[in-house]
Amino acid sequence: MQQTLEPIDASTLGHMIDNGDQLYIVCMNGPCSHGAEIIVAWLVDLLGRNHSSLERDLISGLKRHHRRFRCKRCNGYKISFRRVSGCYTGYASLNTK
Ligand SMILES: [Zn+2]
Repeated sequence: MQQTLEPIDASTLGHMIDNGDQLYIVCMNGPCSHGAEIIVAWLVDLLGRNHSSLERDLISGLKRHHRRFRCKRCNGYKISFRRVSGCYTGYASLNTK
């Protein structure tokens, strides 16, 4: 039997709020690539703080509420989530030695 690999980043929406994380959806419909921020508090209102923040769990959670994200530009349903940690600050620099 083959084991399924579980993502390590199994946090909740509550963690995201506390951490100040931002969540974006990005259209995966070829060159469209339209992106928009999702208000995490809105997801917490709908799904609760203890709901998993993994992409597939969010999508199935929203499905249970008969909701689905759709691209505003091309009206496609092929979307993906991008999470930006609240711990990201400033700019990275390359060390040249
Ligand atoms: Zn699109």
